[in-house]
Amino acid sequence: MIFYSTNKQSTPASLKKATLEGLASDGGLYVPSAIPRFSEEEIQLLSDAPFNDIAFAIAKKFNDGEIPDNHLGEIVEKCFTFTTPLVGLETGTYIEELFNGPTLAFKDYGARFLAHLTGYFAEEDHKLITILVATSGDTGSAVAYGFKGVPNTRVILLYPSGKVSRLQEQQLTTVGGNVTALEVDGDFDDCQRLVKQAFMDAELKQNLALTSANSINISRLIPQTFYYAWGSLQLVERYPGKKAVFSVPSGNYGNLTGGVLAKKMGFPIKHFIAGSNANDSVTRYLEEGRYEPLPTVATLSSAMDVGNPSNFARLRHFYRDDHHAMAADISGYSVSDSETLDTIRKVYDRFGYIMDPHTAVGFRALEKFRETNSESNGPAAVLSTAHPAKFTESIKEALNMNITLPDRLQEVLDKQKISVPMSADYRDLSSFLSKL
Ligand SMILES: *Cc1c(COP(=O)(O)O)cnc(C)c1O
Repeated sequence: MIFYSTNKQSTPASLKKATLEGLASDGGLYVPSAIPRFSEEEIQLLSDAPFNDIAFAIAKKFNDGEIPDNHLGEIVEKCFTFTTPLVGLETGTYIEELFNGPTLAFKDYGARFLAHLTGYFAEEDHKLITILVATSGDTGSAVAYGFKGVPNTRVILLYPSGKVSRLQEQQLTTVGGNVTALEVDGDFDDCQRLVKQAFMDAELKQNLALTSANSINISRLIPQTFYYAWGSLQLVERYPGKKAVFSVPSGNYGNLTGGVLAKKMGFPIKHFIAGSNANDSVTRYLEEGRYEPLPTVATLSSAMDVGNPSNFARLRHFYRDDHHAMAADISGYSVSDSETLDTIRKVYDRFGYIMDPHTAVGFRALEKFRETNSESNGPAAVLSTAHPAKFTESIKEALNMNITLPDRLQEVLDKQKISVPMSADYRDLSSFLSKL
């Protein structure tokens, strides 16, 4: 498969090049030259297939022979060692739980696939690839755990000292092995600036085979189609003749873009609901057709606090910049913090189910959609993007209840933190990297 840049200025790339480059050289995002299609027969054959078979079938179409099938199969098996449960709350309403990976958030799907593809390509070139990432928390931990122990790769994470939660810091600083955490005396913007400077240092970039693993990497997007395909097929099994509706808690809109791809590939999906918090640039675009990004504001669903989502460019590309076409497929609703807490409470009271604040935004957005669309719209699944135990404070506030951490998280909290202190001066980072 050939990938183009959304800015159309840089040369087309193979899967390997697009994966190792992340962002295209013209600053655009890589998109497939054509969206692979699944025929009705192919979909029929996958209808009761296990998750990894569906993942493999999709990955194979994007790969198009670059990686031999047996290796691609191994990569898929290594990535998705955890389950993707579809939990029924009531007739026609489901939660698709995407939080069973190592960091208990959906970003594990993308990060693990990217990590194993990068490892494969590194081995092919007999290279050691260095992944340099600035993180404010969640992305960094997914990347750290995704690349943990992957041969021919090492990860250098920069995080702002004192500005991430204790759980996040423990997740970043206790992986060890091929993952090193740099604790920067500064804020997240300093971390991003340092990483950018390192990437502009041509000699360093070359010597260390630096790559970024950032959230717009095409190899993080591809695996985000797998659970839509799987979820839609599961729902259609239960509701023959219907198509699935997905409600997606959205921040940078990578997750939703994965869904749009799955629909365009031919999987039985009827409609999307994009739930946003107070950061509602895309919600307003869907309503009004004008895109006017605003500065980011802080909310309870913090992983969705994005004022100017970078994946919006890709979403637009897939709808050929046609607002009506996009709005026909996607309904957007913004959900306030108080509605979020209310939703956590109501869902617990009605169903005994505890959801994290991000998932609650998705759930409330689905309710708003149903309030204004009375006709039957087929079975719906809210994508649950994080385990509630990652957001104990919101759960405490909404339910007045302490939830116990899963063993895996408790273990992480008990480990010894190991970080390298770093100033916000680029010379320090440069000297650290040149000694690697
Ligand atoms: C990153 C994240 C989101 C937002 O996903 P996007 O792809 O950026 O829209 C939602 N929930 C959680 C828990 C996340 O970590």
